[in-house]
Amino acid sequence: MNPCKALLPAVVAALLAPAISQAALPAQPATPLTTGSVRVDIATGRVDGDVCVSNAPANAQAHFVLNAGLNVARVTDGEGKPVGFDGWYDPGVDGEARVYTLAEPTPKLCVQYVGAFPLYPKHDALGDFKGMMAFNGDSARFTEQSAWLPQAFDPKARVRSSQSRYDLQVGCAGCRFLYLNGSPAIEGAQGRFRSDNARPILLFGGSGPITRTAQVTILNETLPAAKVEALSSTVQKVADVHSRYMGAPLADRPTFLRMVTLNQIERDREGSEWGFATWPTIAMSGSIGNVADSLLAGGEQADRRVQYIAHEMGHYYFGTLNRPQGPYFWVLLESSAEFLSIKALREISGDAAADRYVAGLQAAVDKQSTPLPAFDAIDGSSDLGEMYRYVYGPLLLLSLEKQVGEAKMQAFMRGLLAAPSPTNWKELQAIAVKAGIDAKAWEHWRASCVAGGRQRCQ
Ligand SMILES: [Zn+2]
Repeated sequence: MNPCKALLPAVVAALLAPAISQAALPAQPATPLTTGSVRVDIATGRVDGDVCVSNAPANAQAHFVLNAGLNVARVTDGEGKPVGFDGWYDPGVDGEARVYTLAEPTPKLCVQYVGAFPLYPKHDALGDFKGMMAFNGDSARFTEQSAWLPQAFDPKARVRSSQSRYDLQVGCAGCRFLYLNGSPAIEGAQGRFRSDNARPILLFGGSGPITRTAQVTILNETLPAAKVEALSSTVQKVADVHSRYMGAPLADRPTFLRMVTLNQIERDREGSEWGFATWPTIAMSGSIGNVADSLLAGGEQADRRVQYIAHEMGHYYFGTLNRPQGPYFWVLLESSAEFLSIKALREISGDAAADRYVAGLQAAVDKQSTPLPAFDAIDGSSDLGEMYRYVYGPLLLLSLEKQVGEAKMQAFMRGLLAAPSPTNWKELQAIAVKAGIDAKAWEHWRASCVAGGRQRCQ
């Protein structure tokens, strides 16, 4: 359920514009709150949880998911009253998680659970992926996808409430540091972590080093000063460009997390890299140094890393401040982050770099043989695949900018940030109108670039 593309070989202050106040941000969908405590033991792979979830969406209060390797000891309603549940026999399954059905919906759900996972200290597992509760001998890595914490589940839409505010006490026997996505890493084997922003909750506990600068945190790897500086300065530049463009300060800074994967032996033999981004975490197998090396090398190698980092940092706006939903979900989440990354690439690496990147996107669409869903006819059942999210959607946004000009496009992007997710074409147009894009201009764009799923504007 990683909203970001897996890390391919490719992979910013002065605020001139007025900042968007919290009050101007959209009414968000129900934001779950996860509280309680979890204990982890790196030497045994044991996990103990005593965790409550409240404020889940109404249609997700009768079910929850939990990693299939965890055993539920007890479910209560938050006041200690036991709640009956099903899921032992012939359980429902959602990926790496079991689905549990409560005897009745409960606004607050508390689950006590325990489990133990295999250790791979030789890093010789057959595979590794984002949904694993991964113990490699000296670290524990659980992403939100692993469902290491109970998550409310909407069985009809098959959607987990995978982003949550949190107030969690975490203990990890054998850890030198602890990190929860969206909170500063701490040195120590236990700590309390809180976030008032809903986040995908990722836990990483390990024994490696931590490097902090004003711009980045690098977890689990020591890098020479020149490489740290390369990462820091790129992040500073992207934060500056994004903040200015969106008119709201980019308050998060990324954490680069080095992972030694469960199958690292095989990866090292093949020379393959794997990574994922769960904003503000950018996790990579092998070495974060590879990213810094590319930045220092310059040229196209550097351009691709700048674009990648700028894409991920775009998720502070689209994914964190504004959490998209509805039929335009993928475009609002990914195409908008991609559009911002191209703006940043142009400012940081120059026109040639940005033009080359955009040409690559257009070439990919030109090769597409199956028709793409027309953007003005999208509804909840439209299947917007990777090509749509990362390639076609950004080109559509660029084509709108070309027709209406940079100033109105900037106002439109700020409008998308500040508005609740549009649920239909009329609502999307209303945001455009507010941004100064009149009906005639909007219709011209629709007819020349959008209608029928055109692969190029006509
Ligand atoms: Zn993304």
